[in-house]
Parts: sequence; structure tokens; C-alpha cells
Amino acid sequence: MAERYDIAIIGTGAGGGTLAYSLAATGKKILILERGGFLPREIENWSPGAVFNQGRYKTTEPWYDRKGQEFHPGTHYYVGGNTKVYGAVLFRLRREDFGELRHYGGISPAWPVKYEDMAPWYTKAEHLYSVHGQRGIDPTDPPGDPYSHPAVTHEPRIQEIVDDITRKTGLHPFPLPLGIRLNEQHPEFSECVRCGTCDGFPCLVNAKSDSHTTCIVPALKHSNVTLVTHAKVTRLHTDAGGRTVTEIEAEVDGRPQRLQADIVVSSCGAINSAALLLRSANDKHKQGLANSSGQVGRNYMCHLNSAILTVSNKPNPTKFQKTFGINDFYLKGPHGDYPLGHLQTLGKATKEMLEDDAPFFAPGLALDYMATHSIDWWITSEDLPSPDNRVTLTRNGDVCLEYTPNNEEGHSRLLAKLKDIVHEIGADFHFLPSVGYLSKRIPLAGVAHQVGTTRFGADPKTSVLDVNCKAHDVDNLYVVDGGFFCSSSAVNPALTIIANALRVGEHIAARVK
Ligand SMILES: Cc1cc2nc3c(=O)[nH]c(=O)nc-3n(C[C@H](O)[C@H](O)[C@H](O)COP(=O)(O)OP(=O)(O)OC[C@H]3O[C@@H](n4cnc5c(N)ncnc54)[C@H](O)[C@@H]3O)c2cc1C
Ligand code: SF4
Repeated sequence: MAERYDIAIIGTGAGGGTLAYSLAATGKKILILERGGFLPREIENWSPGAVFNQGRYKTTEPWYDRKGQEFHPGTHYYVGGNTKVYGAVLFRLRREDFGELRHYGGISPAWPVKYEDMAPWYTKAEHLYSVHGQRGIDPTDPPGDPYSHPAVTHEPRIQEIVDDITRKTGLHPFPLPLGIRLNEQHPEFSECVRCGTCDGFPCLVNAKSDSHTTCIVPALKHSNVTLVTHAKVTRLHTDAGGRTVTEIEAEVDGRPQRLQADIVVSSCGAINSAALLLRSANDKHKQGLANSSGQVGRNYMCHLNSAILTVSNKPNPTKFQKTFGINDFYLKGPHGDYPLGHLQTLGKATKEMLEDDAPFFAPGLALDYMATHSIDWWITSEDLPSPDNRVTLTRNGDVCLEYTPNNEEGHSRLLAKLKDIVHEIGADFHFLPSVGYLSKRIPLAGVAHQVGTTRFGADPKTSVLDVNCKAHDVDNLYVVDGGFFCSSSAVNPALTIIANALRVGEHIAARVK
């Protein structure tokens, strides 16, 4: 007879890792199943060639677009999930994001919880993930307790840009909230060394607040918590009535296994959780497990993202560039119209990262010159939930991702605003679309900010999960990852996934007491 657990958590990313941490002290028998292994600590962690050009840590799993064309998603299967490589920008959603917002492209719907419901969980999440920041500069920052770590300082060239923007444009550049274990006051004790390869790279010295080092490692200190790696969950089985998940089918080191738990949590990431539910269709759940609403896999959102390179005559020797953002156009554009989105600096582009797109730029500017003189930007606008943007399965059960970008007007206006800003602060800037892994507009394979495929809500007819992220249709099944989002907002999603995992963790802990 297989061993039975109180709680099984599938996946160890921002959602699953944080949930495991929050439940570890309950003393309940917790099983964590992760399809990947530990990301190897090796010198290639910090090699732009290995990470960007060769895609060393990305999955090689094929996914398919709506025409059946194969593509390789920019996603990562390791203990810690995508937080192993994230840029660690850990934002709260704005208070307004929880309500209904009108955009150029339509309505961004309200959430079933308010900002005030989430605020205490955001505070806990910021403490847990050692977020550095400063409140009161970003005009859209919602009310919150002060950060427990001071804002990460700007390197001199970036400070110059921030000062120029503040002085010449009247905008409010603010320090990005960053989850890194950096001690600038006492660098001799600092785990983080402010290297040049953070955003998009794993951290060789384990100083990034990813869910592996922040949550899974401490959770495993509890003897009631078991982690099984290389355990890919393939299907969930229910009892005859369809109200209870009774068995978890997995391939552990390639061999089939069946496992049992009283409560089952899917934290595979928004796309893979939806795919798992669709693969788990049975007689009682004909269109996929927990899918009486027909919403599983629908409303996939990933933001409208662009990477931009601005090259100036002045060298930019910055190593750690991702230190400031601008939200002045987050809620409305310069003419008081609809939301445009969010601007932030990117990790510093290197010559290797630019090489892939070299023919596009050659022979105008040498790559070396571009890499040493560019300021690199990431701009994000909200995409709106649409039932037609969705995860389905191919005949073989592989992921098919159908996505047509919407709400693009705000994004192109934001891009134009960035051009204005750059022109206002200095005529020595050339304006170029970006290059490398972040190409100009992030394509379908850029699934980094995936959310929305199992949205939560009060009405079982229009949502997959209830307000506690339990499936409406199944009594012991939860989804705790980016899937629950009702709208994508225009800030990076991980802190909201983390805060929600802590919130749901408290609910599950009370349930199993
Ligand atoms: C390059 C990059 C940079 C980013 N930068 C930022 C940033 O600066 N700020 C920010 O907020 N967000 C950022 N993100 C996004 C952020 O990483 C994600 O929002 C977050 O990790 C999502 O958490 P999750 O729990 O939903 O899924 P994930 O973190 O993807 O975790 C899912 C886990 O489930 C496992 N899994 C999947 N399927 C199965 C299965 N069938 N069986 C068992 N295990 C399974 C996976 O291996 C993985 O460990 C970035 C992402 C990338 C890729
Ligand atoms: S040392 Fe610091 S800057 Fe470098 S990858 Fe680690 S956390 Fe990021």
C-alpha cells in the first residue's frame, strides 16, 4: 500500500515553494513533487553565452501554437521553478488593479478580493523574500509597511539617468523593489555581490531570493516534509463521484508511480497547471478536471512586453542595471486617457546577448559599442483576459498555446513615451529596438509572466477556483500558482503569486488542523 500524505504540492516555483514553506510548520505530512532537479551550480550560471545564446537552463520540451507549429517556451523546470532565473523585481499590484479598469482595448475586470485583503500577505511576502525598496516615490505605490531592507542603490551612470529624468521631465523614477540578499552597508557580510548577470540568470552564490533557497530549503528542515525531484505529475484521478482527487499519477525518474494525499495542490505554473487539469479529464469531468465552467486554460495572459535598447555617446559601465522604474503612465497616459503601463530598466545587455540579432543592426553600430553604451529597458503593458487566448492539448497531450495580443494601443503609446523621455534627457541617444533573447516584442515563447488560466472568483459558472483557490468542482484540489489572476496588471507577477500562496497556506493550515 502506497504511503499516504496529508498534503501533496506539485511544483516548487513562486506558488508551490512558498506554499510548502507556509505549511511546513503544521507538522502535517507534506509531499512535494517537482518534475525538475536542482539547478546545477556551475560557472555557466553566469555566462551570457551559455544562458542566453545556448539556452542552457530552458526546457527543451516542445509546445505548439494554434497552427500546430512547434516552439520552445522560455520556461524552466527546476526546484524553484522560474524564480531560479527571474529578475527578482517583486511588486505589489497597484490598489486600482484589484478593481475594474477601463483600457484602450476594453475592460480589465475586478478581482474577488480587494487590495486591503492582500496587503498583509504582501507585507509577509516582502519580508520572506528580503525585498529592498523605498515607498513614497512611485506615485502609484499602494499603501504598505516600509520595506525591511533599504532600496538598492543605482550605479553612477544609472543615477545620472535617474537625476536627468527627474529634473528634465518631472517624472518620478523610483527604486525597483528587488528580492536579493544584498547588504550594501556591510558588503563584507553580503551574500549578493551585485554581479552583472542576475535578470534571466541563476545565482551562482545563492543570493537571489528564489523559492528554492528562500522556501524549499527551510521547509525541508522539517522532518514531515518530503521533496521528490524528477517527479513529473501526468494525471490526477478522482473517486467515482468526481468530487475528490484520490490518486496522483506521476513519472518519477521516468517510472510510473501512483501517490495519495488528502489535499492536492497543483502549482505547476499557469500553463502547466491548466494542462494537467485538461489531461485529467474523466467520466465526471469530461472537458477536464474542475472544468464545469469551461474556463480551464482560458484567459491566458502574459503581458505585452518589449525590450528596448537606447544607445548613447556616453559609456555605460553599469553591472547591475535593473534598479529603477517609472509608473507615471501606469494608470493614465499624459493626456489623462487610459493606462499605458510600466517602464523599468533591464539587466545590462552584453555583446553575446546582442549577437543573435546582429545582422539586424550591422553594419550601423558595432556590437561592442552598443553593449558598452546602451541603457536597456523593459516596458510592460496589461493584456486583457480573453477566452480565446488559451491553453489546450494536442492529440498527444502536449501543450498548445493560442494567443493573440490585445490592448496594444497603450503599449505603443508607452513606447512613444519612452522615446520622448530619452529625447528629453539627452540628444546623445540613438533609439533602437532591442536585441538578444528579449528581441523587440516578446514572442509567444516568452511565457515568463504567464497568468490567468484557472481564474478565481465567487461564481462557479465563470471561474475555476473559489476565493481560497480551491477548485469549485472538487473538494480537495487547489491551484496555487499564477493561474488564479483575473487580470494581468502591468507589474511583474511573482510577489502576488507569493503573497497569495501565503494567504491560501493559512486557509489550508486551518483546514487540516
Ligand atoms: C527570465 C525570467 C525573468 C523573470 N523576472 C521576473 C521578475 O523580475 N519579477 C517577477 O515578478 N516575475 C518575474 N518572472 C516571472 C516569475 O518567475 C513567475 O511569475 C513565477 O515564477 C511563477 O510562479 P509559479 O508558481 O506560477 O510557476 P513556476 O515558478 O514556473 O513554477 C512551476 C513549477 O512547477 C514545476 N512543474 C511544472 N509542471 C509539473 C508537473 N507536471 N509535475 C511536477 N512539477 C511540475 C516546474 O518545474 C516548476 O518548478 C520572470 C520569469 C522569467 C522566466
Ligand atoms: S550575486 Fe546578486 S546580483 Fe548576482 S545573481 Fe546573485 S542575487 Fe543577482
